Parts: sequence; structure tokens; C-alpha cells
Amino acid sequence: MKVIVVGSSHGGYEAVREILANDPTTEIQWYEKGDFLSFLSCGMQLYLEGTVKDVNSVRYATPEKMRAQGVSVYTREEITAIDPQAHTVHVQNHNNETEREEKYDKLILSAGAVPAMIPVPGKDLDNVYAMRGRDWAIKLKAKTVDPDVKNVVVIGSGYIGIEAAEVFAKAGKHVTVIDLLPRLLSLYLDAEFTDVLTKEMAERDIYAAVGQSVQRFEGNAGKVTQVVTDQATFPADLVIEAAGIKPNTAWLKDTLELDEKGLIKIDEYLRTSQPDIFAVGDATLVRFAPTGGSARIALATNARRQGRYAAKNLVDAKYPVPAVSGSSALSVFDYKFASTGIKEGTAGNYGVATKSVFVTDTYRPPFVPETAGNTEVLFKLTYDPKNGRVLGAQIMSKADVTANINAISLAIQGKMTIDDLAYADFFFQPGFDRPWNIINVAAQKAQREN
Ligand code: FAD
Repeated sequence: MKVIVVGSSHGGYEAVREILANDPTTEIQWYEKGDFLSFLSCGMQLYLEGTVKDVNSVRYATPEKMRAQGVSVYTREEITAIDPQAHTVHVQNHNNETEREEKYDKLILSAGAVPAMIPVPGKDLDNVYAMRGRDWAIKLKAKTVDPDVKNVVVIGSGYIGIEAAEVFAKAGKHVTVIDLLPRLLSLYLDAEFTDVLTKEMAERDIYAAVGQSVQRFEGNAGKVTQVVTDQATFPADLVIEAAGIKPNTAWLKDTLELDEKGLIKIDEYLRTSQPDIFAVGDATLVRFAPTGGSARIALATNARRQGRYAAKNLVDAKYPVPAVSGSSALSVFDYKFASTGIKEGTAGNYGVATKSVFVTDTYRPPFVPETAGNTEVLFKLTYDPKNGRVLGAQIMSKADVTANINAISLAIQGKMTIDDLAYADFFFQPGFDRPWNIINVAAQKAQREN
């Protein structure tokens, strides 16, 4: 069997690995249109802040190692069209500007997404950047040490925008984060958490310009100098756009069924509308566990899970990919937070009724002094008031208590209720925890209030 895998980031990498594990005799051709195999944008902040020194190490696979396992690796070779009837792809080889057709028995697409640059006047000025992929990583790194860059404007306050803001604040720049929504990180956290983070960021020279819409970029001698919103003007030597992504699927619109946003429609076995063509990753919709419907959640965790399941289902489609809850974590300076599922702030997007409890506690017993690292934890549990089903949770602290959110993700997947969590067996040891884990505390409060 010959399998062609398109795209070398998380989804493509995981698909190739799984095919090799399931049947090493499979002929695999792996295509990447860029010149670098398997760059992982998740590692960008660590590179930009200097924790990781070599940009070329931010990857899982090298062509040499994959070729040693029998995989035919092609970089700077782009798949530009598919003929599903003939079972062929059209390859454009940018190394020597030649073209060819390749036959496949099965095709896995992990073409991913690119930053959606906002179409405003001035968008083509110099120093308007994005934060995704190795090329932008290298350009951004240079700007962190450029003395001419004093004011940085980040557009979009999702986790990518906040990572960018933190990088440049730590590099000594004055940072403004503009968002259309009324709070920073509002798709990830409710106000109890973002109020704390916004204050923390302000103390670190990051100004939140929320509830504002960018109108245009203005410049001088071809370079951006300021960003004008509907309410204010912000000086900018560098603009970083992180206001969403658009799927790399324009070339597929006449071949596969796409939704109105260009996302590839797939079933639970990762099959597209054409036989023997599977799709995974940021270019697809994922099944959303809290509602049972689908959602757009661009995370490496999803791409990887889907990559594996596409490979498992290649020959006999019998493994439905598990639904996910969009679990994610981030640190903002000293704070570490994580969230999963539905928040009060996002419940309206899913059309579900929710009830929430918010609790604060110290993460270790009160007798443990602050000097030993004891500190406050904020936790919010969201559930369905009709049946008590757990729908989501958020946690934040200066201690790393983020793993609690994985327990909530499992509770959502297992359709558990607040009753299941109220007296669930979680460990206690004063070095780590309190006699009642914060999940128990919140669920017990929810029982009392519901
Ligand atoms: P992509 O990563 O978009 O890669 C697609 C690849 O396919 C690209 O290399 C592209 O060049 C190639 N390609 C596209 N079309 C073709 C074609 N026609 N022919 C050949 N090659 C093609 N997620 C997390 O879970 N945790 C994190 O901490 C995290 N941090 C992130 C930080 C940043 C700054 C960014 C930008 C993203 C982060 N993500 C994180 C999200 C994660 O990186 C994406 O969800 C993931 O990369 C999606 O993988 P993918 O395989 O779908 O596509």
C-alpha cells in the first residue's frame, strides 16, 4: 500500500509515525512545501526567550531519521491538486521547478493553517509580522534584540498573542495588546482570572487595549509606525498579528467538501467527502465532548490524536476518534493557568445553559507558610444545571496546579457529574495538596448551590 501524507507539522508527523508502527512495509511519501521538516510552533516562545537556543531543534523529526525508517521525505515540494478518481496528486517541486503526478492508495492531509492577517489599509507595511512557523520565528527573534523596536503592538489576545506579548515585554519593549473582545484571553478564561492577569501584565508594561477594532496601520518610509483603532492610536515599531488563523485549503475547494470557513468536513474516522482521502489538524473541525457537536479548536493535541486515528483507520475505518474538550494551558509571567471545555464567557457560542462555582483556596494546607511556596489557587467549575454534567473548568495559580484540568477533561469525556466529582478520590499530602482537592471543594459547593 502506498500512502501520501501532506504537511509535516503535528498531524502529518503523527500519521507517519502511526503508519510505520502499524505496518512498516507501507510505502510512505511525506510532503512539506516549506524548506524545513516538522517545525513546531508550540516551541516558539521558548526559542524567542532564549530557553531553546537553536531554532532548528524545535522539531520532532529530521529528514535523515525518517528516511532511515524507510519514509520518502520531500521538502520544498507542494501538493497543489488531487484527482480523487485517478487517485493521484499533483506535485510541484520548488527545488527545481518541475511538476509530476504521484499515485496513492490512501492520502492523509494535514495542511494546517496560516495566520489570518487582517485586511486593513497599511497591511503591507514592513514590520507587520505574524507568529507561526520557523520563518516568522527567525524574524521575530531578530526583533527581540533590535534597539529600534521600542513599541510593539500585538493584535489578538488568544494564547499566541499573549505569548508574543510576554516575549517582547521580557525583551524590554513596551507592548500593547489589542483585541476586539472586551477581555484578554476571553475565549480561555472568565473574568475572575483575566482581571488578575490583566493587572499582572500591566505591571510588566503590557497594556490591554480591549474592545477595540483595528482600522488601519500607518507608516513612514514603508515601515509601520502606528496602529489606529476605532478608539485610539498606538505607536508601533513592530506589529504582530495573532487574530486567528485560516485553513490552508483554498486549493481543495473544488475537490473536497469544506465548510463556510474553509475547514475540511470529516467524519469521526477522519474521512473526507472523497474515498481514501483523510484529513486532520487545524484545517478540520473536531468533535467537541461537552456538547457532542463539533468545534474549531486549533491545538497540536488534536492534530496529533487525529493523525494517529487517520492512520489507524486507513484500511478499515473502525476507530472513531475520541471527542475533545479543547484543554490548554499557558503561563503568563508567574501565573500558570489551564482551562477545558465550556466557560461562562463562551457558553453562548454553544447555545448551552450553564451554572458555575468559583472557589479560591491555598494549594497546600494553611499551616504551610508562603515562604515554602504555599499560594492561592483560583478554580471555576462549569456544569449543566439540569443534570449536573460537568462542562468545563478553569484553574490558575502561581503554583503549577494545571494538571487538575486534565482530570476535568476526563470527567467531561466520561460524561461525569458534579456528584461524581464531589467525593472523588484524589490524593492528599501536604507537600502537594490539601485534604480536599480543589475539584472536590468546587463540586461540593456546586452540589449545595444546584
Ligand atoms: P500546521 O502546523 O499548520 O502545519 C501544516 C504544514 O503543512 C505546514 O508545514 C505547511 O507548510 C504544510 N503544507 C500545507 N499545505 C501543503 C501542501 N499543499 N503541500 C505540502 N505541504 C503543505 N498547540 C498546542 O496544543 N499546545 C501549544 O502549546 C501550542 N502552542 C502554539 C504556539 C504558537 C505560537 C502557535 C502558532 C501554535 C501553537 N499551537 C499549540 C497550535 C499548534 O501548533 C497547531 O494546532 C498545530 O501545529 C496544527 O498542526 P497541523 O498539522 O494541523 O498543521
